[in-house]
Amino acid sequence: MIKVCKFGGTSMADGITLLRVKNILEIDPARRYVVVSAPGRRFSGDSKVTDLLYSTYKEVKEGGHVGESFTKIAERFRSIVHEANVAIDIEALLYETACAIEREESEDFTASRGEFLMGRIMAAFLGIPFIDARDVVKLDAQGRVDARTYALLKDRLHGIGRAVIAGFYGEGPEGRVKTFSRGGSDVSGAIVARATGADLYENWTDVSGFLACDPRIVASPSGIKKLSYRELRELSYMGANVLHSEAIFPVREAGIPIRIKNTFRPEDEGTCILPDKGFVPGDRPVTGIAGKKNFTVIYLEKSLMNAEIGFAYRVLEVLKRHNISFEHMPTGIDTISFVIDSEQLPDLEVVEREIVEAVHPDKINVIPAIALIAVVGHGMSRNVGISARLFSAIARTGVNVRMIDQGSSELNIIVGVENVHYERTVRAVYDEFFGEGK
Ligand code: ADP
Ligand code: ASP
Ligand code: MG
Repeated sequence: MIKVCKFGGTSMADGITLLRVKNILEIDPARRYVVVSAPGRRFSGDSKVTDLLYSTYKEVKEGGHVGESFTKIAERFRSIVHEANVAIDIEALLYETACAIEREESEDFTASRGEFLMGRIMAAFLGIPFIDARDVVKLDAQGRVDARTYALLKDRLHGIGRAVIAGFYGEGPEGRVKTFSRGGSDVSGAIVARATGADLYENWTDVSGFLACDPRIVASPSGIKKLSYRELRELSYMGANVLHSEAIFPVREAGIPIRIKNTFRPEDEGTCILPDKGFVPGDRPVTGIAGKKNFTVIYLEKSLMNAEIGFAYRVLEVLKRHNISFEHMPTGIDTISFVIDSEQLPDLEVVEREIVEAVHPDKINVIPAIALIAVVGHGMSRNVGISARLFSAIARTGVNVRMIDQGSSELNIIVGVENVHYERTVRAVYDEFFGEGK
């Protein structure tokens, strides 16, 4: 039996939590491969080491040397090593790291040093080998995992009973360190699980599993006992960032289940994420709710649009020219909307003009500052009246729905509301499906 355990930033935050992690690993000998994040926040208002590393990169770019942010990072690691009593020459390691950051002049390299240092410390603490992700995780220019990765990892781990692997980064095509997007140690954990043919990928964090809704919006939401891969993908992509939205892919190929566990309450069951095939949904029609702010909706209306061959194609050509990907494309008979992450539209006016030139719509409306809320669950397709309940609940709070998109899978319904109404709407939807007595 092999379990791969990924520990997030809060599980690495100080020396005391390192002792907790050691206990968790010792209790179960199947927990053989450990993937670590950089130290996260210890309390609200504290800094994450990765954020300090991004500031370090800016300081090096401006002044040529590591500065104030690196001093804070060094303090953080010194205190972890001291508190957990780790036998490692932390001063030498910090000095080498600072020199390497100044030499490499790379944002990704700098950002990756949190996981690198934490991996070195954790390996020394547990007395097991450290594996630098640079040597085994190979990424293409777009940051996708290169197929060589699995063979390399397998080879490197062959005959090693236990190891610590740094999360969040690998090596890009030019032999330079490349990171995943934020929260990417979850992806590293999934890669190691797949490479080792693990029976289980345990993801240890600071909540007792996937919750039905973001706990920063609703206080103590219900826990989710089990999720299918597809439900996980929908929820994490739509903003439930307890797990990175791309962590699913490596494990899905191999059918490895994921369990989300709480480092601070290891006795709690957590959430089990299972393959779609054979998945038996729970009793609730809705499994979970997630959402994100800051989208722009471009709404187009034109009589007989339905009969105009290539209408959507010409709009998409404009988006392609500007390197813009869209999230959703709800359509009516003579209307079509494109929902786009606002960050991708710095040249909104130019894009709007080019769309008008390309398709001559009767009407074009640009609606900025839209939040999307996804209501997800396999149970929705079997239950009549779920949308009626959803929309009545939103209407009762007095919020105007600006966009609706029901995924073709019937696994989700997505509604768009103004950013300012986001939290209120999430609470109303949560109360409707999970509130007292539901
Ligand atoms: P880690 O550092 O362990 O990777 P993250 O901060 O990335 O942890 O993810 C855990 C956090 O995700 C929780 O503390 C919680 O605030 C947030 N979160 C957002 N949506 C959800 C959800 N649906 N269920 C659980 N946690 C959620
Ligand atoms: N340390 C990285 C971040 O803060 C990666 C991770 O924690 O998963 O985004
Ligand atoms: Mg995370």
